Amino acid sequence: MTMADAPITQDVLTIPRKLPDGPTNLVGLTRTQLHEVLVAHGTPEKQAKMRVGQIWQWIYQWGVRDFDVMTNLSKTYRAELAESFVIEVPEVVSKQVSTDGTRKYLVRIAGGHEVEVVYIPEEDRGTLCVSSQVGCTLTCSFCHTGTQKLVRNLTAGEIVGQVMVARDDLDEWPIPGAPKDETRLLSNIVLMGMGEPLYNFENVRDAMKICMDEEGIQLSRRRITLSTSGVVPEIERTANEIGCQLAVSFHATRDEVRDRLVPINKRWNIEALLAALKAYPKGRNSERITFEYVMLDGVNDTDADAHRLVELLDGIPAKVNLIPFNEWPGAPYKRSSNNRIRAFANIIYQAGYASPIRTPRGEDILAACGQLKSATERARKSRKEIAAEAGLP
Ligand code: SAH
Ligand code: SF4
Repeated sequence: MTMADAPITQDVLTIPRKLPDGPTNLVGLTRTQLHEVLVAHGTPEKQAKMRVGQIWQWIYQWGVRDFDVMTNLSKTYRAELAESFVIEVPEVVSKQVSTDGTRKYLVRIAGGHEVEVVYIPEEDRGTLCVSSQVGCTLTCSFCHTGTQKLVRNLTAGEIVGQVMVARDDLDEWPIPGAPKDETRLLSNIVLMGMGEPLYNFENVRDAMKICMDEEGIQLSRRRITLSTSGVVPEIERTANEIGCQLAVSFHATRDEVRDRLVPINKRWNIEALLAALKAYPKGRNSERITFEYVMLDGVNDTDADAHRLVELLDGIPAKVNLIPFNEWPGAPYKRSSNNRIRAFANIIYQAGYASPIRTPRGEDILAACGQLKSATERARKSRKEIAAEAGLP
């Protein structure tokens, strides 16, 4: 069997929230789960609902990590909480700031693994690019993350934790009682970091629910975009259970080419993908599906490709986001020329679709799309070792 025929696998580990004998981390629990653990640790059932609301607000609205600061809870109750629980977010190992203001954080999660998180400031918004897995089981040939062998799913706490550490660094947790600040440094989230979010559906969903929660991080679902390479069966669930904006890594207009660029196409081809996208609830004009299209010199960037793309979009409320290929050491492709990218964009625009060309951000610190690949790769470990670290049998 050649590499190309190898089955596409979803065989990854999610480590349990509770490490053996350690206290339970409250970050990333849904409201229902938080209710359950509080009751299991002695909170009277009658009070539990109110306690969930109070603790939730302290953690996600005010960014508090210390039970002692939760002054609307009694001193004894606070001490009890501190005995059984922790409020833990990933540890920031390093931070790099690009000349264009982009910030890249390397964060360490349980088991010693590392993922990257990127903050991109723009004039009218600040976008956090969040990772959903360590590495990625998929092997898109133009993507640096896809060359990383080591893969594990992030927990919901590790996903929402990335948002929390970025807010720490930006120093933008509101002060309790202060008037609501409408101008946010971190105003948008894109699930476009490392990993395929739809191969870690439940954890991504639970984390994004916290980000959207009115008593939580309070971001509108319109400001959260999930990017998938095309995990067709999970697309409908994304609409029903998360309700965020959808982006699709389209990248090619013929199966023969898409098979090579985005190998998941061999399982769900262009036709199957488009059918799922057509069924995605049609929103208002502001809620179009984003078709991401990486511009690779001589591979997918001809006028004929642009015309075919326009035909394929028929019937789908769409916009096309053209991504100039970001090179990484050893990459097998080159970026299309600026003239080629502009000509391609123009054909799509003339057909009535928005076709912005994405400006690469943070290139000097290898923070641009598809350049992320954590140093964990260097210390490749066997599944057995990872499982042992995570306390799994
Ligand atoms: N796994 C998800 C989300 C992460 S990638 C997905 O594939 O959609 C976010 C976007 O960056 C995707 O559209 C991806 O195809 C694109 N990308 C990956 N590598 C790239 C590179 N080297 N240059 C430009 N875009 C890249
Ligand atoms: Fe994974 Fe997305 Fe990279 Fe493909 S482009 S390897 S799905 S992270």
